[in-house]
This record gives sequence, C-alpha cells and structure tokens, in this order.
Amino acid sequence: MFENKKIFILGMARSGYEAAKFLSKYNNKIIVNDGNPNQDIEHVEELKRLGIEVILGDHPDNILTYDFDYLIKNPGIKDNHKYVLYANKNNIKVINEMELAYYFLKNKNTNIIGITGTNGKTTTTTLIYEIIKKSGRNVHLTGNIGFPVCSFLDKIKDNDYVVVEVSIQQLVNLDMFRPHIAVLTNISEAHIDHVGSYENYKNTKKKIFQRQDKNDYAIINKENSDCLEITNDINSTKLYFSSKNNTDIYLKDGYIYYKDEKYIKTDSLTLVGNHNYENIMCAILACKLLNVSDDDIISVITTFKGVEHRLEYVKTINGIKFYNDSKATNNKSTMIALDSFSTPIILLMGGLDRGNSFDELASYMKNVKLVVAFGESKLRVKDFCDRFNIDCKVVENLREATYLAYDNSNNGDTILLSPASASWDQYKKFEDRGKEFKDLVNEIEGK
Ligand code: ADP
Repeated sequence: MFENKKIFILGMARSGYEAAKFLSKYNNKIIVNDGNPNQDIEHVEELKRLGIEVILGDHPDNILTYDFDYLIKNPGIKDNHKYVLYANKNNIKVINEMELAYYFLKNKNTNIIGITGTNGKTTTTTLIYEIIKKSGRNVHLTGNIGFPVCSFLDKIKDNDYVVVEVSIQQLVNLDMFRPHIAVLTNISEAHIDHVGSYENYKNTKKKIFQRQDKNDYAIINKENSDCLEITNDINSTKLYFSSKNNTDIYLKDGYIYYKDEKYIKTDSLTLVGNHNYENIMCAILACKLLNVSDDDIISVITTFKGVEHRLEYVKTINGIKFYNDSKATNNKSTMIALDSFSTPIILLMGGLDRGNSFDELASYMKNVKLVVAFGESKLRVKDFCDRFNIDCKVVENLREATYLAYDNSNNGDTILLSPASASWDQYKKFEDRGKEFKDLVNEIEGK
C-alpha cells in the first residue's frame, strides 16, 4: 500500500520526520513540507540524505499536485488547510502518522490498547504500559504521549503489546485504526477548537471504537453521560468503571471493587484523588482483560508515583508529604488537586499574571491551612486569600516558598505545588518549575 507511491507529508515535527524516514525504505517518492522553517537541523539533513525533498518556511501553491497518492498530515493541522482541501477535491487520501503506522502494525498481530478522553490520557496510558511491562511482556509506550508510533515500527514484533495515547487531533484522521482494547476516560467541553463544536468533538472521540467488533473491548466511564451516549450503539464488548455506582469496577467506602469484590484499599495507592482512582480503574480493567496477574497490577498501582508534574508524589520528610502538580496552570487543575487530599495542605500558588480571578478556588480551600504566594501573580493571590479569610504569606520565588512552607508545616501535612498559573513569568516551561521544586525537596531532605 505504501510502496512505490508518491507521498506528501504536511507538517514535519517528530511525527512527520518519523513517517518520512520509515516510508523512505519502501521506494516512495516523498516531499515533506512545513510552514515553520525552524526544524531540527539534524533531522532535516537525515531526510535529505534519504532522498526526501524537504520544503520549509512556506506552503507554495504548486507543490501538492493531483498525482500524489497520499497526504500524511500532522495532527495539529486543521482540515481546512489549503493542501487538505486540495487533497480532498482530488481524491488524494488524507491520513495521519498513527493511521499509517496501523497499516504496518495490523500485519504483526500486535495487541493494541488505545486510550483517549478529555483528561487522564497520559496517566492511564502510562499506568497500563507500566503494568504490562511489570508482567514481563514486550510492550511499547507510544502515540500522543510524545513517541510517534512510526518510530517503533522496526522494533515491534509479533504478539507485542502497543499502548497508544490517542488525542482528539489524531482521531480526526483515523479510519482503519482498531485497538483491541479502547479506553475512554471521560469527555467534557474542552479543546473543541480543533473540531469546531462539542457535537463534533464527541463524534470524533467515538472514532476510537469505530472499527471494533464484539471481540474487542471498550472501557467506559459510567458516570459520564456523554461517554454513555456516544458508546450506546458501538459493536465492542463494553466494560464500565464508576466512582459512584456498582458496575464492573467501582469505588466504594475507600476500596476499589472489581466484579463486586474488594480489590484494593485506596489508602494503599500512591496516586491520590478520585480522578486518579478512575484512571487506575481503567488500567485494572484493561490489564485484567490481558490476563495480567493481580500481583503485577497491585505492585504497580501501589508504587506508581504519577506522571511527572501531574499531582506527582515526591516524598515524605518528617511526616510531611510533598506533591508536585506544576502542570496545574489553571484554576480547574488546582481544584482537582485540592479535592484529592483530606490532610491539611500548604499550597504553593502563583506564577504568570494573566489578570484572571482565583475566586472559584475558594470553595476548594477548606483543607488549606496556608497559601504561600510567589511569582508575578503573588499579590493577586494574596488579595484573593484576604477576601476569603485564607492565611497567606507572600514571597518572591519557589525556593523561598518551599522553605517557608516546610518551616510552617507539621507532621501529617501535605505541601502541594499546584500554582493555578502558567510558569512563564519565571521559567521557560512548567516542567522546569516542577523540577526545581523536586530539587528543593531533596535539598530540604539532605539538611
Ligand atoms: P491528559 O493526558 O488527558 O492531558 P493527564 O493524565 O496528563 O491527562 O492529566 C492532566 C491533568 O488532568 C491532571 O493533572 C489532572 O488535573 C487532570 N486529570 C487527570 N486524570 C483525570 C480524570 N480521570 N478525570 C478528570 N481530570 C483528570
């Protein structure tokens, strides 16, 4: 299918580069085009050495012609791009890198587990991957999580497991892609800009199930009415998780129940918060379907610290627990974090000042004994705390904030970095802020 063809790759980045490199082995004539001239120079040189034409910085009118067989589009590019419109008009098939990879994967008899949803994709994908790895099987962590599937195609062998995080942008151009197990964590109104409306967003999410039949499995959130609505008529065998009601796997009285029997006490899990218990329940269901042993499942879910910077457990010093939630760059994420603890919390908050209000956080602050405000928005944080009678101390930066929090903490407290603000006032990216926090915690421990 992808041999001796003429292929146009729109959008380079990692996935375009990997797709081009892979396809070059099958005697295809390939053009890679990206409007952004700033690409990894070594990747560009490598593609050129492979005989691939690379055109950067512009989308010239005359490079995509009707005699191309495929347009492989980066997931970030919208369907109304002039090349995509041209391809549709001239019957040039438009796919993306994940769909391309699937054509090769399906001949290898692999076990594909696909995870999508508005939130929780990365955590659930990583958990499933870690559990399968623990069971000693060959498993690959791929997809939207940062590793294009094409970069694994030479390594994946028959009967391997492939765990794929699938974003809404990737789903738009998936057609034949068929995971044996598909997980839909939840759906809510976010990121709809790529697909125009919430109705389109829901229908696009549904595509993860479109090629499944009754021998395949769909893992679905029973408490999310939109998830139930879009999976109503799918052909897959359905399994449900719930944080409220009895179903295949559910939360009740501080336990996760699997098939109505106590499976694990939530206190013994390293991850905290109902949202994370939901992610864990998805992972348990998926891994039980794959006949992974309970020992392996339990070993991972009781030690998994979380994906870095997402309510990640750092360590406990003198009975004080530290959590790094640097990815919480808005109020919504900080609310989820605050809801995850029943211990007293010292909250480190602040960062880029977007001029937005923090007021909607007020009702989530009942366990917060002290807020330490830092960064550009520190005075806005202080003003918010003063108006809602929340104790608040103001400092300049995260170093001062972490030490002040520690000095004011007692055995049993949680020190939580969940800033409800972007990091760009003092950092290049939220990852740098989270790393500094973890370094500071280690420094405190060493004193
Ligand atoms: P995604 O990959 O879908 O962005 P992540 O696993 O990276 O999701 O988690 C990102 C943030 O989303 C977390 O820090 C948390 O605030 C929130 N989150 C994670 N899992 C869930 C869930 N199951 N339900 C609701 N929110 C969640």
